[in-house]
Amino acid sequence: MSASFQLDDTIAALASAPGHAARGIIRISGVRTKSVLEALFTPHDPGAAGFPRASAWCYPGALHVTELSRPLAMDVYFWPNRKSYTGQPLAELHVISSPPLLEAVLSAVFAQGVRPAEPGEFTLRAFLAGRIDLTQAEAVLGVIDAQTDAELRTALEQLAGGLSSSIVRLRGDLLDLLADLEAGLDFADEAIEFVSHGALVGRLGLARDSVGSLLEQAGNRMRPAPRARVVLAGPPNAGKSTLFNRLLGSRAALVSEVAGTTRDYLEAEIVLQGVAVTLIDTAGLEGTATGIGREAQTHRRRQTDVADLVIWCDPVDQAPLEPPVDSVPAASDRVLRVVTKGDLADSAAASQDLPAVSALTGAGLPQLVSTIASRLSRPASGARQLVGTTAARSRESLIEARAALDRALAIARHEEDQELLAIEVRAALHELGKIAGAVYTDDLLDRIFSRFCIGK
Ligand code: GDP
Repeated sequence: MSASFQLDDTIAALASAPGHAARGIIRISGVRTKSVLEALFTPHDPGAAGFPRASAWCYPGALHVTELSRPLAMDVYFWPNRKSYTGQPLAELHVISSPPLLEAVLSAVFAQGVRPAEPGEFTLRAFLAGRIDLTQAEAVLGVIDAQTDAELRTALEQLAGGLSSSIVRLRGDLLDLLADLEAGLDFADEAIEFVSHGALVGRLGLARDSVGSLLEQAGNRMRPAPRARVVLAGPPNAGKSTLFNRLLGSRAALVSEVAGTTRDYLEAEIVLQGVAVTLIDTAGLEGTATGIGREAQTHRRRQTDVADLVIWCDPVDQAPLEPPVDSVPAASDRVLRVVTKGDLADSAAASQDLPAVSALTGAGLPQLVSTIASRLSRPASGARQLVGTTAARSRESLIEARAALDRALAIARHEEDQELLAIEVRAALHELGKIAGAVYTDDLLDRIFSRFCIGK
């Protein structure tokens, strides 16, 4: 796709996930939105203010689509003016999400001179209308793509303008400085000093440090946090595989049989209470394993060696086994001991200290999931992070901006040509402008918005 700048076109697309659900949303944006609604939709009660009102409103009513034998009940949200997400008249049709139904509604909308939206085109319009800047557009995508609580928090903070406000402040300071420098150049022949030498070096130094700390944030996000590895270990028949399957439930994104031994181990990527985890089911511990079994044991050890957390399973119907030294990581905070098959426990056995779970009945599993998640959640570093694409894109600009400010500082310190100094400050401003989108190219917009899905 190519980022479309046809702002006069009215566009529409399905904005909710395709498939059967209680609610599907069709979004329409552009100058024809109002006439589309007037042609197809009748509100149940237009009210004293009539339909449509001059300000944003929700109208329960019915849509008339020739393909459907009867009027289709739906809620229509209509923003008649610039105070919408896209900065244009915008409507959302909220209806039961049934693929043929949504298709019929979209066809009826398209028949009114509306074209299908391209990927990310609603958000592109929001950017072009000045409703959001580029870092916030990327944050929209970050929110959609977030898999963990931490990723969601980062994206939401960026969407709320976290990065933009730092950049806006920095650019404001540099623009003030540039204005002083240029005034000095205009009055070079007169003995007027607009900014003292000391103040100039000080202000440039501050700007350079701010760029440096933004660069650090961009670097933070460049090293994505690896998924935590959680290994299920314990004696054979402890119920590890059953627990593995139970923990996956519907959460499993990917389960793969990892080849390498005849007794393969399984690993699956899941998210437990917002923490991204690779869950690994190892072969049971066998003390006298030979041949193939021994190979599996070596494999198991390798897994437990690199695990962030080992869940050591002791079945309730066997005497608890102290985890052998070589089968769990040395640091005890990386071992979580649980009693499995808790449903077989009589009350005496159930009174032991270890948490009990039953993969069969599901008892104790929510508590186990919470414990795993809290063991793995590391305290936030305090440093603000950036959405991945913003970090990658900003890095280049920040490095260039810092280099320009370094050159400007050198010129200022040596009291050299102020004209050259102004050129460097302008170069830094240009680079910072690229981050929030004050300076952009079609190519850059294409790169950012083509990653979106249609309807966003
Ligand atoms: P693994 O060798 O540790 O992977 O153990 P499995 O998951 O294959 O389970 C061994 C046996 O214990 C199987 O017959 C399971 O059906 C049974 N089992 C597993 N979990 C439970 C449980 O929570 N309660 C009961 N009663 N039986 C279980």
